[in-house]
Amino acid sequence: MPDLLTDIRYIKGVGEQRAKSLARLGIRTLGDLLNYFPRTYEDRTVERTLDEVLPEETACVRAMVATEPRLTHVRRGMDLVKLRIVDETGGAELTYFNQSYVRDQLKKGETYVFYGKVGGTLLRKTMTNPIYERADRAGVTTGRILPVYRLTHGISNKLLLGAMENALDACGDMLPELLPGEVTARYSLPRAGFAYRNVHFPPDWETIALARRRLIFEELFVLSCAMHLLRSRREKAPGQVIQAPDMEQFYASLPFAPTGAQRRAVDEALADMASGRCMSRLVQGDVGSGKTMVAAALLWSAAKAGYQSAFMAPTEILVRQHYATLTGFLEPLGLRVGLLTGSMTAKQKREVKAAAEGGLLDVVVGTHALITEDVGFFRLGLVVTDEQHRFGVEQRSALTSKGERPHVLVMSATPIPRTLALMIYGDLDVSVLDELPPGRQKVDTVSVTEEYRERLNGFIRAQVAEGRQVFVVCPMVEESEALDPAVKSATEHAETLRKTFPDLRVGCVHGKMKPKEKDAAMDAFVRGETDILVSTTVVEVGVDVPNASLMIVENAERFGLSQLHQLRGRVGRGVHKSWCVLMAHDPSDEAKARLRVLVKTSDGFAVAEEDLKLRGPGDFFGSRQHGLPEMHIAELTGSMDTLKEAQEAAKELIRRDPALSDGELAPLREHIRRLFELNENTWN
Ligand code: ADP
Ligand code: MG
Repeated sequence: MPDLLTDIRYIKGVGEQRAKSLARLGIRTLGDLLNYFPRTYEDRTVERTLDEVLPEETACVRAMVATEPRLTHVRRGMDLVKLRIVDETGGAELTYFNQSYVRDQLKKGETYVFYGKVGGTLLRKTMTNPIYERADRAGVTTGRILPVYRLTHGISNKLLLGAMENALDACGDMLPELLPGEVTARYSLPRAGFAYRNVHFPPDWETIALARRRLIFEELFVLSCAMHLLRSRREKAPGQVIQAPDMEQFYASLPFAPTGAQRRAVDEALADMASGRCMSRLVQGDVGSGKTMVAAALLWSAAKAGYQSAFMAPTEILVRQHYATLTGFLEPLGLRVGLLTGSMTAKQKREVKAAAEGGLLDVVVGTHALITEDVGFFRLGLVVTDEQHRFGVEQRSALTSKGERPHVLVMSATPIPRTLALMIYGDLDVSVLDELPPGRQKVDTVSVTEEYRERLNGFIRAQVAEGRQVFVVCPMVEESEALDPAVKSATEHAETLRKTFPDLRVGCVHGKMKPKEKDAAMDAFVRGETDILVSTTVVEVGVDVPNASLMIVENAERFGLSQLHQLRGRVGRGVHKSWCVLMAHDPSDEAKARLRVLVKTSDGFAVAEEDLKLRGPGDFFGSRQHGLPEMHIAELTGSMDTLKEAQEAAKELIRRDPALSDGELAPLREHIRRLFELNENTWN
C-alpha cells in the first residue's frame, strides 16, 4: 500500500532518471509531489467555433482535419507540417514547426480539440503549433483549467499532471488534516482532501481560490503554531546567570560613542543573560548599523563574568574580518581572542582548540562548522552568530539544545517588516538597531536601462582611475533561462567586461566554483588586486571592502528589493562617495515602481515595508532567507488578510491548548516536529 512517504518511483513512468530530475524540484515522495503546487493556471476552457474565434484570441476549437498533413524540409534544422482544419462554421490553416511527428499523429477525417492562439486574418485564420487532443479523449490538456508547474530539464508539465493524478488516486485520502475542525469552520475553509484535489485539478476559478486559501492558511497557521511552541519551549529552558558588568568601562574604550540603539540592544541582551533563562535574541540592524560592537560588548561582559564565548560567521573571509575587528575591540581590554579557520594548518587548529578547552581563550572566532563540531569549551556561556543571509533552523533548535545551553545571539542584516516579524522571528526576542552611527553617507542610487551602458562603462573607468573598486552582481541563471540573451550570467558578463576594459583587472565569483577558488577570488578583491568583481548573489558578498565605491546590479528587475538593498550596503563603507546603479532590462511598470523605491529610500526597514506592500509576503517566506522550513504555497500569494487570520487562529489555539495535546491535533504536532527537525525528547 502506497502512502505519502512512498518513493516517487512508485508513479508509472517515473524511473531512476526522472526521479533524479524530480529530486531537483524537491520531490522525492508522493507526499512531496502532492505538495508541489501549480505556479499558475491557464484557462483552456473557452471553446469557440472557427467562425467565432478572432485573430489574436487564444481558445479551443473542435475541428476535423480536412487535408492530409504535409511535411516539408524548409532548410536544415527546420521542418514544417501544414494542414487544414474545418468545422461546420469555417476553416483554418495549421502550421507546426519542427514537430514532424504531427504528420503521423493527426489523421485526415478525424476530429480533435485544438488549443492555441489564432493568427492570420478574419478571412484566412491560422494557428501555429496548437496543442491537440482527439475529441473523444479530450479534457487532459484542453477544455479545462490547466495547472502550470515549475519545471526542470526532463520533466514536462504533462508528466507532472499525470503523476499528480496517480498520486492523488493512491493516497489522496491519506493527506493529514492539520487544521482543527473549529478553525476550518470558523474561517470557512475546505478540508485538506478537497483542497489538494482541487488545487491540482480545478473545475473552475472559484474552487481554485477556495483551495488555495485553505492551503495558504494551513501553511501560515502551522508556522505560526511552531513559533509559539518553540518560544514556550525556550522560555522554560534554564540558562546560566551572567551578571551584567558596568558597561561604561567598555564604552569608554571605544574610538566612538555608541548610538542609543546600540546601548539599548546591549542592555536588552544583558538582561536576558542575567535572567536565569536562556537568551535567544536576534539583533536586527541595517548594514552599517554597528552590530559588531554590540556583539563585542557582550563577549566582553561574558568574559568579565568568567565565561567563554564563540563567535561564528558563515565564511572564512568574514571570519577573518570579524577576528580583526573583535581583536581591535577586545585585546586592549585584556581579552584573549582565538581564530579558527579551515585554511589553518592542523597544528595551528590543534593549538587553538587546546587553548579553548583549557580555558585559555575568552573568545574563539570561527566558521559555524569548525566551532559547532570540533571545539570543546571549558566554560561556554555565549554563542554569537553573524548571519549575513541565512539564519538556519539549526541555530534555532539544535544549538540551544546543546548540553551546555549557552546564551545565543544572532545578528542579521535582513530587515523584516514589523507585520511579518512575529511570523518569521516569533520564537526569538528581537532588538532592532534602528539608528545609524552619525556621519554615515548615503549611497546615491540610480535606476537605468541598457541605453545607459556606454555612460556606465565610462563611469566604471573613472572610478577605477581614481583608485576605487567596482562590484558587479548578476542574477543566478536557471537552467531554463541559460539561452535568454537578456539575462546576464556572471561568467559571460565577466568576459564582456574583460573585453571592454582590457587594461583593468576583472575577477569573477559564482556559485559553481569550489569554495577555495571563491575565497581566492574574493580575497584578491579585498586586497585590491582586482578592480572589478563580477559575482552572483549566491556568493558571500558580506565582506567589507571600504575601497569599493560602485555597486552595479545587472538585471536588477529580477531581484527582491530587500536583496538589492543588501547589495547596495556593500558600498559606502569607507570614506569614498559611493553609488549604486540598478541596470534593469526591459522592466515592467511594476518593476520600475519597485526600483524607484530604492532610489528614493535608503532605510532598509522602509524598503522592506514597501516590498511587502508591492509584492505581498511571498518573498519573505519564499526566499528561505530566514532559515524557515520551505514554504510551498505561501510564496504564491499576496494575501496579508490570510496571514493575519492564520496568526490569530494559531494564537487562539495555543492559548487554549499550549502543548497541542488534543487528540485531533496529533497530525499538526507531528508535522511541526518534522518540519523543525525537533527530536522527540526536546519536545516538552
Ligand atoms: P554592521 O551592522 O553592518 O555589521 P559594523 O558593525 O560592521 O556594521 O559597523 C560598521 C562600521 O561602523 C564599522 O567601521 C564600525 O566600527 C563603525 N561603528 C559602529 N558603531 C559606531 C558608532 N556608534 N559610531 C561610529 N562608528 C561606529
Ligand atoms: Mg556585519
